[in-house]
Amino acid sequence: MPTYTAPVKDMQFILHDVLNVASSDIPGYDELDRDTTQAILDEAAKLSENVLAPLNKVGDEQGCKLENGVVTTPDGFKDAYDQMCAGGWIGLDCDPEYGGQGMPYLVQSAVGEMFVSANMAFNMYQGLSHGAISAIQTHGSPDQKAKYLPNMIEGKWSGTMNLTEPHCGTDLGLIRTKAEPQDDGSYKITGSKIWISAGEHDLTDNIIHLVLAKAPGGGEGTKGISLFIVPKFMVNEDGSLGNRNAVSCGGLEHKMGIHGNATCVMNYDSATGYLIGELHKGMRAMFTMMNEARLGVGLQGYAQGAVAYQNALGFARERLQGREVKGVQNPDGPADPIIVHPDVRRNLLMQKSFVEGARAFTFWGANMIDAGHRKNDADAEAMVSLLTPVIKGFLTDKGFDTTVLAQQTLGGSGFTKEWGLEQFVRDARITMIYEGTNGIQSLDLVGRKLAMNGGKTIMAFFEMVKTYIKENEGNEALKANFLDPLKKASKDLQAAGMYFMQNGMKNPHNALSGSYDFMHLFGHVCLGLMWAKMAQASYSALENGTSDPEFYQTKIETGRFYMARQLPATALHLSRIETGADTVMTLDAANF
Ligand SMILES: Cc1cc2nc3c(=O)[nH]c(=O)nc-3n(C[C@H](O)[C@H](O)[C@H](O)COP(=O)(O)OP(=O)(O)OC[C@H]3O[C@@H](n4cnc5c(N)ncnc54)[C@H](O)[C@@H]3O)c2cc1C
Repeated sequence: MPTYTAPVKDMQFILHDVLNVASSDIPGYDELDRDTTQAILDEAAKLSENVLAPLNKVGDEQGCKLENGVVTTPDGFKDAYDQMCAGGWIGLDCDPEYGGQGMPYLVQSAVGEMFVSANMAFNMYQGLSHGAISAIQTHGSPDQKAKYLPNMIEGKWSGTMNLTEPHCGTDLGLIRTKAEPQDDGSYKITGSKIWISAGEHDLTDNIIHLVLAKAPGGGEGTKGISLFIVPKFMVNEDGSLGNRNAVSCGGLEHKMGIHGNATCVMNYDSATGYLIGELHKGMRAMFTMMNEARLGVGLQGYAQGAVAYQNALGFARERLQGREVKGVQNPDGPADPIIVHPDVRRNLLMQKSFVEGARAFTFWGANMIDAGHRKNDADAEAMVSLLTPVIKGFLTDKGFDTTVLAQQTLGGSGFTKEWGLEQFVRDARITMIYEGTNGIQSLDLVGRKLAMNGGKTIMAFFEMVKTYIKENEGNEALKANFLDPLKKASKDLQAAGMYFMQNGMKNPHNALSGSYDFMHLFGHVCLGLMWAKMAQASYSALENGTSDPEFYQTKIETGRFYMARQLPATALHLSRIETGADTVMTLDAANF
């Protein structure tokens, strides 16, 4: 059975040594001193390690059950969910006006990583609520906020997002679900949605569905789409629950992973719905949920990698096979632990250096979201918008790869159910697919985000990296091991951007066939930047006579591995991009 230990010390390192949160001028960050974040993370760690992680396998084996329209979650889920509500975790970063704790999104991200590593399927119930809360908070009327937010933030009610239909996933312009206006201002919603996460379950008293549908007069494509609130139970004026609405679960999906999360067919049969945000501007409102959800999915990707790595490491320290070629390490045993072998170490360092870099990248992104929301920092908001497809696409691809590498560390044991690694592989796989497949993320990055603000945001990214390198070149060790490789990788990224500018306009296929490589190239540069910053913080801690030199030295060595062994991938991505569309587009579809 796999185990989970929350990486509190590593998180504290990023929050305080790298991001220096306590001295930030972002409103609310002044409360984030070391002791406070330590206390919050310790509490979240207890819940993750003692309550959620033991239920991960239970959820996988039992899955959810549908009987007479009622969905039952696996044993122990309801009790764990109640504990999560009692601890106020669901509303951790939500508006205090509606019962939230008002903590920064950064803290929510750190806690979220633990919950996801411990039990991804379980955490999705509250994860979907969180997106729905944000959409209502941002686009809802004062009445809607007062009616729905307090119970959702407390966790008594949950939320969902309903986009996908049988004939449309990526191309939402094809949506057929209809919304007919009624005299009282409400709408009748009719249609069928598929693969709705947490669409029906037994954890909460009510479920607030956010549903994309087409109301008359909106025109074709995504422009005509509006967003509606459709509660499972109607909510009376006094806040009590009324009749059951005409929305029901028509089936549960049998799927590769995340068995503990109910993936539902949702049927809307003239269900009563209420417009949220502007009529025919539903995509804009939905994007509030989707952007947040994309960052959350990126986090899911590396968080699965993180727990898989921990278990691979434990195995590698104990499994005795073969001898270290340069000398026996375990003379009293029949063989040495496999962690002595260079190839096993390479494999473990691939995992470790990715997970720790990804954590820093995600926290940095969350930090910028806070700057955008709490300080109205438009540049930070633009930067995180540029990076959102990279966080989602790169971290989930590499997060999944990490679970496979971890599985490999265990040899045959990794393939068996007993050790649990195969569950991490199966659970991580969905992160590359939902919330817009990773291919679509790369199109968003190259097709929309690069040109955003007239190209100013991507230029600001390049400038930021350049300035950072210039300002820190005086540190010899940092320069040789971190800044020089980062400079080279950043030049590859600029060259790729230049290639798109020069060749993408005359033939869009040149950009679209290179977009996936660009997303990965960009991801590597971001992780390279994160490792440079983590190394810089570690060098200074060592210079300042830290009482824990081993911890900081380990950071530097792990970062050196990333810079030397993973970052050079940027050259391969660039060379693929620069071959253009020719080799991708010449083959006739019939000849594939
Ligand atoms: C377990 C699970 C949970 C989910 N939860 C939810 C949920 O809660 N709410 C919800 O609304 N949906 C949910 N989904 C749906 C999910 O978001 C979609 O599956 C996803 O967006 C992709 O849509 P699709 O499956 O229809 O693939 P398609 O759109 O059919 O795409 C198929 C392939 O073609 C590629 N492709 C499509 N169009 C293009 C293009 N223009 N250019 C290049 N490539 C393209 C895609 O990248 C993909 O590889 C869930 C799905 C699963 C499996």
